[in-house]
Amino acid sequence: MPLSDAKTDDHPYWVRVVVDLPLQGPFDYRSDEEISVGTRVIVPFGRRKLVGMVVDCPQVPAHDPDQVRAIESVLRDVEPMEDSWLRFARFAADYYQRPLGEVILPALPQPLRRVSDYQGKRSGAGPVARLDKRRVAAAQPLEPGFAPALNQAQQAAVDAVGAATGFAPTLLFGVTGSGKTEVYLHAAQQVLAQGRNILMLVPEINLTPQFERALRARLEPATGPGGVAVMHSGLSDGERLRAWLRVRRGEARVVLGTRLAIFAPVVNVGLIVVDEEHDPSYKQQDGLRYSARDLAVWRARDLGVPVILGSATPSLESWVNAERGHYRRLDLTDRARDVEMPTVRLVDTRRLPMENGMSPQLLEAMRRRLDNNEQVLVYLNRRGYAPALHCASCGWVSQCPRCTAYTVLHRGQFGGHQLHCHHCGYQRRVPPACPDCGDQDLQPMGRGTQRIEEHLAELFPQARVARIDADTTRLKGSAQALFDRVHAHEIDILVGTQMVAKGHDFANLGLVGVLNADAMLFSQDFRAPERLFAQLMQVSGRAGRHTGHGEVIVQTGYPEQTVYQALARHDFAGFARHAMREREAASLPPYSHQALLTAESRELPEALAFLQQARASAEDVLQREGTHELVSLYDPVPFRIVRVAHVCRAQLLVEATQRSALHTLLRRWLADLNALPEARRVRWQLEVDPLEI
Ligand SMILES: [Zn+2]
Ligand SMILES: [Zn+2]
Repeated sequence: MPLSDAKTDDHPYWVRVVVDLPLQGPFDYRSDEEISVGTRVIVPFGRRKLVGMVVDCPQVPAHDPDQVRAIESVLRDVEPMEDSWLRFARFAADYYQRPLGEVILPALPQPLRRVSDYQGKRSGAGPVARLDKRRVAAAQPLEPGFAPALNQAQQAAVDAVGAATGFAPTLLFGVTGSGKTEVYLHAAQQVLAQGRNILMLVPEINLTPQFERALRARLEPATGPGGVAVMHSGLSDGERLRAWLRVRRGEARVVLGTRLAIFAPVVNVGLIVVDEEHDPSYKQQDGLRYSARDLAVWRARDLGVPVILGSATPSLESWVNAERGHYRRLDLTDRARDVEMPTVRLVDTRRLPMENGMSPQLLEAMRRRLDNNEQVLVYLNRRGYAPALHCASCGWVSQCPRCTAYTVLHRGQFGGHQLHCHHCGYQRRVPPACPDCGDQDLQPMGRGTQRIEEHLAELFPQARVARIDADTTRLKGSAQALFDRVHAHEIDILVGTQMVAKGHDFANLGLVGVLNADAMLFSQDFRAPERLFAQLMQVSGRAGRHTGHGEVIVQTGYPEQTVYQALARHDFAGFARHAMREREAASLPPYSHQALLTAESRELPEALAFLQQARASAEDVLQREGTHELVSLYDPVPFRIVRVAHVCRAQLLVEATQRSALHTLLRRWLADLNALPEARRVRWQLEVDPLEI
C-alpha cells in the first residue's frame, strides 16, 4: 500500500523537511515510520515531488495536523547525514541568510536529489544501488612518493601543527617556493597515523593534475589505494557521486577539493587545510554566496580540530586575525630549494618608447634569456586580440548591443575576425566598415594576449611562442598538453593570463615580464591593490625557481605606488601594514563588516527604486533596534557595468562596525524585502561579506 494512503492517524510521526526552493521552510510532513534527522525523503510539494532532507522530528506539527501531507518515500540508500554536518549547514544558512534547503540539497551530488533517479522508468533501486552494482576496477597502489627532507622552518611548522590540540587556526605564511605543500603533507601524515581524516582545499584542480598525483603518491601509502577522493566542479555526476559516497562511508580518508568540497561529508576529521587561502575562487559567486575559507575556519572550530591557512600573500582578513592573536602565524621565509628570490625591476613606461606595449628593457632582457636558452613568460591578464575595435574617423567603438561594455576583438585561427562580449557571450563577425560613418579603416584598440603573441612571433622569429589563456585551453586536456610542452622546453616564450600564475613550477623559466598591471591599480574596488599584489607575487614566483637568478620586469606608469615598491622588495608584510592603515582609516573590512544587496531588472530605475525602498525599510529596522549608530546604509548605485545581457544591475552597500549588529539587521530586514512594492519587478540577492563591490 502506498504510504500516502496509509491510515496513520493513530500514531503518526511528524518530520520537518527542507527542500531546494527559495522558500524559508522547513515544511512539516507525516510519516508512519520513524525517520532520523539527516535522512533524505521524497515529498509531495504543491503538484510536484521533491527530494528533501529531514532536519527535525517535532512532537506536534506547526500547523493543523489534518492539513499535513504524508511523505512519499524514505531514501535509505545513504546513511543519514551526521549531526556535525547538519550543524555546519545550519550555520552556513544562518550566516549567509539563505533557506536551509538551499544549502543542504545543493551540497549533495545531483543524483541523490533528483526524484527521477528514484521514480523514473529505469531508476531501479536508485543511483547508489546502480553505482554499487557496477564493477569498478580496484584502485592500484601507487609508487610511494619521494619525500624531500624538511628544512628547519618547515620542520618547526610541522611540529607546531602536530603539537596543537583542539581548534588551532594557523596562518602558514610562506613565499612562493618555500615548501608549504610539504608542511601540509607532513601534518597530514601525522593526522592519518592517528586514524583521523583530512579535508584539503585548493583553489584549482583541473589545471594541476600533477599536484593531485603527487598528493596521492604521498598519502595513499597511509590511507590505502583509493584513499584520496578528489572533488571539483569538473567531475561528471557519476564521478562526483562515487567520490562523495567513498567519503561518506569513510573509505576515502583524504578529500582534496575546490571550494565546494567544504561541504564534503568527511567523517572523523582531524585536520583542515586551505591552500592559497587568499584566492578569490574560494568565494562562490551565485546561489549560496559562501567563502569556503571562512567556512573552513568555522568547521574546524566546531569540530575542535586544527586548520592551516597557507599563502604567500594572505588575505588582509587572515593577516589581521594573526596580528590580533586569533590565529598563530608560522613563517617560511626561505625558498625550500635554497635558491634566491627573483630580482624585481620596475620599468617606468611614462618616459619610454614602447614597441607594441613592450619596453626596450623588457625586449632586451628577453633577448638575453633566450640567447641563454632560458624560457620567458609574458604575463597579461587580458585575453583576445584587442579589448575593442574602433574607428579613427568618427570615434565609433565596438559595443555589445546587450551590455554596457565593449566587445573584444578575437582573431580566428583561419583569419576570420570576430567581436566577442566577455560578459554575455555575444559574438559577431567584424563589420567590413564602420557602422556609423562607413570608413573601412577600423583599428584594434589596446592589446590582448593574442596580439602580444603575434608581435612576439615577429620580433623573435627563432623562438617558439605559445599562448595559454581561456581561449587556447577550451578543450579538455589542452591546458595540460600546453603545460607539458612548456615543461619539455618545446616552448621558448609563453604568453599567458592568470591561468599560468597558479602553482606551476617551470624549471627553466628565467624571466617574467608583466604588461599592463596598472589596469587593476585604479579599480574602484578597495580590494584591488591587495589582489594585484597577490597576482604579481604569484606570477613573479614563476621566475628562477630552479636556476636561482630569476628576474621579473613589471611595466608600470606608477612605479612609486606602494604595491609595486613592496613587490620589488618581496615585502608582503610592508604592503599589508600600509593597506591595513588605509583600511582602518576608511573603516573598511576587516575593520568593518559588509553586506551587499543587489537588484536586477530590465530598466535601471526599477532596480534603483527597489533598493531605495529596501534602504528605507532597513532604516526602520535600525531605528526599532536602536542600532543605527553601528550600521551605515549607503545610497543605491548602479554597477560599473550597469547592463549585462539586457539586465540592469544596481547595489546597496550595508556596513557595520559590529558583526552582530549587521546580522541582527539582515535577519529582520530579509523578512521585509519580499513585501516591498517594487520587489515583484526585480530579482534581488543578498551577499554577506562580498568580495567585489
Ligand atoms: Zn566611423
Ligand atoms: Zn554582452
